[in-house]
This record gives sequence, C-alpha cells and structure tokens, in this order.
Amino acid sequence: MASIVDYDTLLDECITFHGHLCMGQVLGVRVASKGLELVSPDLPRDLIVAVEIDRCLADAVLTVTGTRIGRRSLKLYNYGRMAASFLNCTTGKAYRVRAAYQGPQPGDDEKAMRSILVLPDEEIVAWEEIELVFPESEMPGRPKRTVLCSICGEKIFDGKDRPGPDGPACAACLDGRYYTVKKS
Ligand SMILES: [Zn+2]
Ligand SMILES: [Zn+2]
Repeated sequence: MASIVDYDTLLDECITFHGHLCMGQVLGVRVASKGLELVSPDLPRDLIVAVEIDRCLADAVLTVTGTRIGRRSLKLYNYGRMAASFLNCTTGKAYRVRAAYQGPQPGDDEKAMRSILVLPDEEIVAWEEIELVFPESEMPGRPKRTVLCSICGEKIFDGKDRPGPDGPACAACLDGRYYTVKKS
C-alpha cells in the first residue's frame, strides 16, 4: 500500500507534468495508484490503461502509471467520466477504477487538496473487476498491418483501413475529415 509520503511524491510529479495542482491530479493519483495495486504489473510492458476522459485526471494517470499513447499502452475512450481501466496483459487481470470523492470541494486550497489526497480508499475511489480484452491490432509491438489508402494515398497503420470502392481506405476518406483543407 502506498503511504502518505508516496501519494504526496506522486502528486508532485503530476503537478510537474500537468502544470498545476488540481483535483484532477489528486483524484488521478488515487485512481492510478489503486489500479496499479489491483493488477500489480511486474514490468511496464505488462500494463495497458484505458482512460475515460481527456481532462486533468488523464495526465495524472499517465504520469503515475508510465503508460503512453505513443507506446499504445494508454488508450482514450472519451466517455467524459473520471475513470480508468487497468489491464495486466500477462495475467489477464483487469479492474476499472473511478473517482468517487463526495466531500466538500476544496477550490484552490492546496492544503485541503492534499488532505483529500490521503483519504482512505473507500472515500475517494471505487473499483470493480472487469473483463478487458483488446483486439490484437490494439496491442503494443510492431504494426501487423500497414496499407496505403486507395483514395488519399497516405499510409494507414494497424488495420485502421476499411474496404473502399477501389480498395482499402482510411476512415478520413470514407467517413469525412475533422478538418477542411484551405484552398491556396
Ligand atoms: Zn488540472
Ligand atoms: Zn485516405
């Protein structure tokens, strides 16, 4: 179990990465610490984390767990919920942990936030064992499939292509893009 000192040290690391102290860092430290405790990975490569929000808490979760989007060890399922799931790929054990703090909001009071940080588990997080299996195409390691989009010609990694009218195509070409190219 992490001691009071551990939580404070982790919080300081999170503040350095994230840029400020906030409840997202406080809750993220506890969500991530509980997740690590529950699935107890021996090595960093044993762990995949799926975070359910792209706000403050997500930065604390990646700082404490050492998972990274670019290493495929961190997934974003943006449900807008302050929660994350933790999978030990070696044992198959998985838990979802969510922030469950119901007490008074501390505002910007650092002392109040640091006292919330060390509340007992039951007052700050909730967790449940889950079944969590990622498809092979989502796992870390070398890409298993890389093809060229038959419409835009760009390389598509990891089986993200789908059949198009003239061969494999990327989601941007098939579903429409999130951006518009400016005419020069
Ligand atoms: Zn923040
Ligand atoms: Zn394309």
